[in-house]
Amino acid sequence: MSSQNIVTIDGPGGAGKSTLAKLLAGKLGWAFLDTGAIYRTVALVLIERGLTEASDEEAGRIADQLDLSFRLEGHEQRLYLAGRNLGVAIRTPEVTKLASRISSLPAVRTALLSAQRRLGERGQLVTEGRDMGTVVFPGAKLKFFLDADPEIRAKRRFDELKAKSAQVPFCEVLAELKARDQRDQNRTTAPLTRAPEAVVIDSSQLSQTEVFDLLYEKTKEVFNL
Ligand code: C5P
Repeated sequence: MSSQNIVTIDGPGGAGKSTLAKLLAGKLGWAFLDTGAIYRTVALVLIERGLTEASDEEAGRIADQLDLSFRLEGHEQRLYLAGRNLGVAIRTPEVTKLASRISSLPAVRTALLSAQRRLGERGQLVTEGRDMGTVVFPGAKLKFFLDADPEIRAKRRFDELKAKSAQVPFCEVLAELKARDQRDQNRTTAPLTRAPEAVVIDSSQLSQTEVFDLLYEKTKEVFNL
């Protein structure tokens, strides 16, 4: 697999991976791929079909049969389901919760692996998720693991929700985030873990600009840009 021109950013939810991966891809002029959106799409379809309790086998079959396509729009790989751009429909709390549950199902992960790898074939990709550097693109030339304390990640999420006028108590945001961390770290297939060669960045005490500078400087160094 020609994964050489790929930067992977893995880490727990709320560490800022998506925003930073998008910024990095934009700066490099490379494509950006948010793999959480793929798991969220499977969750949305299960909700729409009334199959929120689907077994591994059933959810895997549905994931395998989904008419998923990616279109490179600007530098972003945008995800379409049967020609429909899902936008905010995959960002609801209900989808977030179910995506976390179904992403631990082995048949779902297997079904989504080849779609993700196909996108890496062209190279020049910055991608983020939980298992990008460990499972999907083990040959990626540069891997980051972006982390932050749970309380700080929860506070960032809480502030985002508050800005959208959502009234969720901080303790609930923190509990939900910790539950997702647990599921990500403890599932048997492709658990969230650091690739030994990954550059670890703890963003707890850093601004977004400071983290971006670290990512960008390292990328320039590794790819001789
Ligand atoms: O990152 P995001 O919150 O959008 O991801 C949605 C869900 O998909 C998460 O709960 C995470 O467990 C799962 N996921 C995953 N593997 C990835 C990307 C996301 O298991 N590569």
